[in-house]
Amino acid sequence: MDIAIVGAGISGSNVLKSLITHPNFQADDLIDVYEPRQSLGSGLPYEPTDDESIMLNTSSDVLSVDENNELDFTEWLEHHFKEPTNFEQLVSRPHYGKYLVERFSPFYTHEQVRHVQNTVVDVEVLDAATKEPADDTQDGNFVYRIKTEDGWQDSVYDAVFFSVGHPEYNDFYDLKGTENYIHNPYPMKEKLANFDNNQKISVVGSGATGVDLMRFFMSNYELEQPLTFYDLKEPFYCVAIPYEKDDFTYHLTKNWVEEQKEVHGGFIPLQVILDTIKDDLKQENAEPMAVYNRYKSGTLDVFRKAFDMKDQELAAVQKYAANSVPNLPHLYNALSGEDQQEYMKNYYQIMLFFKTKVPYYSYQWLFELIDAGKVETVAGLKEVNVLENGRFQFVTEDSEAEADIVVNATGFINNIEILTKHSELIKNLFHRRLILPHVNGKFILVDWPQCRVLNQQYGRMDNLFFLGLLIGGTQHENNDAGQTIQQAQYTAKAFMDER
Ligand SMILES: Cc1cc2nc3c(=O)[nH]c(=O)nc-3n(C[C@H](O)[C@H](O)[C@H](O)COP(=O)(O)OP(=O)(O)OC[C@H]3O[C@@H](n4cnc5c(N)ncnc54)[C@H](O)[C@@H]3O)c2cc1C
Repeated sequence: MDIAIVGAGISGSNVLKSLITHPNFQADDLIDVYEPRQSLGSGLPYEPTDDESIMLNTSSDVLSVDENNELDFTEWLEHHFKEPTNFEQLVSRPHYGKYLVERFSPFYTHEQVRHVQNTVVDVEVLDAATKEPADDTQDGNFVYRIKTEDGWQDSVYDAVFFSVGHPEYNDFYDLKGTENYIHNPYPMKEKLANFDNNQKISVVGSGATGVDLMRFFMSNYELEQPLTFYDLKEPFYCVAIPYEKDDFTYHLTKNWVEEQKEVHGGFIPLQVILDTIKDDLKQENAEPMAVYNRYKSGTLDVFRKAFDMKDQELAAVQKYAANSVPNLPHLYNALSGEDQQEYMKNYYQIMLFFKTKVPYYSYQWLFELIDAGKVETVAGLKEVNVLENGRFQFVTEDSEAEADIVVNATGFINNIEILTKHSELIKNLFHRRLILPHVNGKFILVDWPQCRVLNQQYGRMDNLFFLGLLIGGTQHENNDAGQTIQQAQYTAKAFMDER
């Protein structure tokens, strides 16, 4: 069997390892890994050579890639570094990258594996028997040919795993290509290396990339003017408060989901999940809606209050949300269609509020920087314009300001139609009707939990898989390394089991 894996980040690498270590992997199987970068195993977020100031937002205990030892990464860190965490009590992302490269290296150097250092731009569906382009029969046996930037490849693949990771960054203000505008700041060490301390630097967006930028600029520059973060609403997510109690009531495990599906004959009513959350949190003296109403304004002032008092009610709800992250796709896919809609309409933002947060000691640093006048935040961004002198103008409802350098931190495009204008691969797959947008034009439609591509042209494609951020409509809220690892392992194993 010839298999192609497109992308060698943690998703593609876990697919690779799971294929090779499966008992059904055979001596004449061949795997081609298409990846334009030289570094195999880490992907861009954990690039081993990037600046050490950028930090993981996840505990090392949930990032092992060894199925038999969940503390493998923690032990690796302790073995390699005297002090594995920094003053924010976080682990450097490049350290995780080094771990990933080391752990996956035996698989990339395996004699049945070939690295094709190129970007995939198209895939053609062939009839397995004739190797001719397939018609649109929905029950056909398909194989695939891949086109890279160098042209069509000779190999014909029995299965293709797309693990291409993050789509392009948004370009809300149409600045891509403008001088002194950094559209994608990674790797930071390379893209943000050559500024002067007297230049005015502003950042658009204040999510996880924004926090990385704060760390990078404060660790590598002595800026003479404050680093300004602009956002549509109040900048920066909620502060993560450490929960101080040891035991914790939590029922929404994967087993609970399976049990409840049986009890309710298929779908779990959303109300049952909501009641369970409420009852669990009652045991922790927390009322989620009261906490949400207390902090939903999202201002730095209310977060400072939560920070100062180490609000344990907020901490309990955040811990509950964090525990739920690995199970969110299972919970979401256990809902009926109308309950999925109800969840998205009325509860999704609340879950997002509690699960997306900035670590406690990072906030302490942020507050210190704001108090010292080194960082400032501005809400209500309306426009970013390029002036005739090449500087940038930021317009909000009641202010105007300028900057020499603008760094983009606005997150990724997930609308497929928009993405076709930025990604050759997505453009071609969409043109061939191989991929369909999932919800509201966003994400790629796959089945669950195997992540096989679904479309009208060919039906369910049993040997064509899509993984990662672009299947966020099915693998709900999947922008998390732990989930990425688990899903890649599951998908590859399920494929090999059926071989
Ligand atoms: C900046 C950043 C920081 C993050 N930090 C954390 C964190 O601290 N903790 C956490 O849990 N999660 C974090 N995440 C979430 C992240 O999505 C996952 O942890 C993980 O990196 C996803 O792995 P992946 O393999 O799907 O994608 P990636 O790691 O992005 O790998 C995709 C690979 O595919 C390659 N590729 C793309 N297109 C093509 C193509 N057409 N042809 C061939 N190859 C291609 C790319 O070069 C890349 O190497 C972060 C994400 C980002 C963007």
